[in-house]
Amino acid sequence: MSQSHETSQSQETLSNLLQETRRFEPPAELAASANVKAGTYEEAARDRLAYWAGQAERLSWSRPWDEVLDWTDPPFAKWFVGGELNAAYNCVDRHVEAGRGAKVAYHWEGEPGDTRTLTYADLRREVNKAANALLELGVRKGDRVAIYLPMIPELPISMLACARIGATHSVVFGGFSADALRTRIDDAQARLVITADGGYRRGKASALKPTVDAAVADTPSVEHVLVVRRTGEEVAETERDVWWQDVVERQSTEHTPEPMDAEHPLYILYTSGTTGKPKGILHTTGGYLTQVASTHHSVFDLKPETDVYWCSADIGWVTGHSYIVYGPLANGATSVMYEGTPDTPHKGRWWELIEKYKVTIFYTAPTAIRTFMKWGDDIPAQHDLSSLRVLGSVGEPINPEAYVWYREHIGGGRCPVVDTWWQTETGAIMVSPLPGVTAGKPGAAMRPLPGIGADVVDDEANPVPNGGGGFLVLTEPWPSMLRTIWGDDERYVKTYWSRFDGLYFAGDGAKKDEDGDIWLLGRVDDVMLVSGHNISTTEVESALVAHPKVAEAAVVGATDPLTTQAIVAFVIPRGDAGGDVEGEDFLRELREHVARTLGPIAKPRQIMIVPELPKTRSGKIMRRLLRDVAENRGIGDVTTLADSTVMDLIAEKLPGTKSEG
Ligand code: ATP
Ligand code: MG
Repeated sequence: MSQSHETSQSQETLSNLLQETRRFEPPAELAASANVKAGTYEEAARDRLAYWAGQAERLSWSRPWDEVLDWTDPPFAKWFVGGELNAAYNCVDRHVEAGRGAKVAYHWEGEPGDTRTLTYADLRREVNKAANALLELGVRKGDRVAIYLPMIPELPISMLACARIGATHSVVFGGFSADALRTRIDDAQARLVITADGGYRRGKASALKPTVDAAVADTPSVEHVLVVRRTGEEVAETERDVWWQDVVERQSTEHTPEPMDAEHPLYILYTSGTTGKPKGILHTTGGYLTQVASTHHSVFDLKPETDVYWCSADIGWVTGHSYIVYGPLANGATSVMYEGTPDTPHKGRWWELIEKYKVTIFYTAPTAIRTFMKWGDDIPAQHDLSSLRVLGSVGEPINPEAYVWYREHIGGGRCPVVDTWWQTETGAIMVSPLPGVTAGKPGAAMRPLPGIGADVVDDEANPVPNGGGGFLVLTEPWPSMLRTIWGDDERYVKTYWSRFDGLYFAGDGAKKDEDGDIWLLGRVDDVMLVSGHNISTTEVESALVAHPKVAEAAVVGATDPLTTQAIVAFVIPRGDAGGDVEGEDFLRELREHVARTLGPIAKPRQIMIVPELPKTRSGKIMRRLLRDVAENRGIGDVTTLADSTVMDLIAEKLPGTKSEG
């Protein structure tokens, strides 16, 4: 960059307040047998494209590529140009052909306790039947299929059936409303919708079909709705509807996969909508599958012969696409898949599943970890979790206290925790420790993975020095990068590539510590400007969560006549906090605690004790709604909010909350 350096020196881009000195070395045994060792960083740095070409060899290609990367028309990338492969063949058939047909692909567990085991041979049969059914229903290569299903085996089967025939899937999270579903169907012009009568959530059948009926009443592109019978509840039927049990079950179990161009559109997925209107992110085939397979192997140290892997995300989010479906299956892993909620029928359900299936690798989100902290240590303690060897986290910055709790109470103090930073847009993990290499720091995503270029820059795109904070950017194109926003190339360029010349702007704040390791500091939109200092939400929240009586915290900057913005915190006390957690003494104690931990500049002006926080359906805190509360405005767009009653609960608390000094 050739811009002047002056302005960036007058004011730091983002403060670095939190000091964290705990370190966790990789277990010796894991380090010795790790899939990826330290040397891989240098190897990849020497020749990045050769490194990715090597990773692409994990897949079976029908036609080799002519060129690894075509970046002549940035930011529109083409990876593995001229190569051809079929994603479903790579995820299913080739494992069967290699003699691993009897290996379990999914141990599926329904919320009511019913189970299904799908081996790779079973999966091939089911995917073939579904692919034949799609063809019979008129779906062709290049068409879009919307999938609105609960977490049942037909969900990955449907995705793979689409991939097999070259239809582009658009999975819509089963918790979304008819409106949200309709706009996504319309945006992609989907020809078919795959759904179910319903699924099980919180101990009861929860209907999906009525939502689809309402959505497709107004979507001319949809020709058929293919309905899986899951709950058996009665549903209204229309002309367009066909039952999975009728149409799919009678199909041939044979289907020959057609090789697709490496850049063939594999899927569209809408971002989770934490900051605003969701964007239809487009992923293609060869580069995407290469990077999800590669990172699932390296970041989780997956040993497909012996590991039992479980990612607790919903397949409706990118984490589920990449690390329940495409990554694990491309690697021939055995996974657990669970339909329901963590507290049904009891709060130890997840730990019971880990014990039952002897899960060795577990991947979940900070929001879940903080919920378990709130519920109490005694719940996981009732289960044998000794099979676990690697733990992962994704979705939000993980507060150091939550990381340490996860490591101790779930990982028994022996499992490395990998904090994986990535986005729907990146398709795969970008910044993360490697469990056999990295000495973990609680709360740090650490370093870009081999073959990935990431940095933290100031306003003028200059890399910040160690100890400094700024904007997280990606400096090189990567194989699983989004190719565009569906139907809107201009928005793609504007959103991600115009803030800094030649760099991908992720929208997240980050800092480099004294060793140059990367810590995520929350979204740039959420950064608070307090008396000339840009303060990250994450650091203040982490300081609050480090107080023994605090389970969860969210902070926002509210307009303040003296300091530009003032910090307002929303706090959920731990279940076992005891004492008067609503009283002035406790609030003063918390404010002092933050000031002691981070310095007086970070002391909240006001703390509100609340029963819940507003979260997206993927479990992320929606700070912009809390900002509306803190600034006494009407609440903004809540369509991506998981539970709309939460904002009422918080508003109810308002009259009683007192601000101090
Ligand atoms: P939208 O872009 O529509 O607001 P979203 O950003 O919540 O939605 P996702 O793509 O699911 O949708 O989430 C990616 C974001 O999640 C990242 O940009 C980052 O803010 C956050 N994130 C994910 N993993 C981590 C992590 N390990 N540490 C810190 N933040 C993370
Ligand atoms: Mg985002």
